[in-house]
Amino acid sequence: MRDVQLTERLLNVIEDDILPLTAKEVEAGNKVFGAAILRKSDLSLVIAGTNDETSNPLWHGEVHTLKQFYELSERPDTKELLFLSTHEPCTMCMSAITWAGFDNYFYFFSHEDSRDSFGIPHDLKIMKELYGLEPGGYRRNNAFFDARSIVDMAEAADEPDRTRFFRQIERIKASYALASDTYQSHKGESKIPLG
Ligand SMILES: [Zn+2]
Repeated sequence: MRDVQLTERLLNVIEDDILPLTAKEVEAGNKVFGAAILRKSDLSLVIAGTNDETSNPLWHGEVHTLKQFYELSERPDTKELLFLSTHEPCTMCMSAITWAGFDNYFYFFSHEDSRDSFGIPHDLKIMKELYGLEPGGYRRNNAFFDARSIVDMAEAADEPDRTRFFRQIERIKASYALASDTYQSHKGESKIPLG
């Protein structure tokens, strides 16, 4: 699979499959984080999902998507699948992805973005408090998985793809900024422990 084809598909899944679910759930007080699972073979979508912490504080976008994945009557082996996370997974979610048997994940926003652009510092704070890790201090490439930034993949693309990707990246960021405003405006009403 060529990176340019993969980058294009991951951006489209965020925009077309995850964002509509997230736009609805932030209205209900849930966070902006979403995820999707795709087949490696043809990049077709298996399932997309979004955060549902108002039901259960463990239903982060990634874990909630995995829960729904395991409720499917038929599902491919996770070794044949790609995991897409809109935001770099927290320690719970990256462990869940690992325990489920995925050998990869791709993310759009970084941990630093979650803290600086979304007002959600918990990922980095948990890494520091529980594991003594500074931002960027965990191993994105390890014996279990390779984690890749979709924005870095777009950055590495040749023109004219690069410009086209960054136009879409800016559009996606604008949609997330709106979703984040909605979440933050409801924040006081929800009983999410780490809001
Ligand atoms: Zn998480």
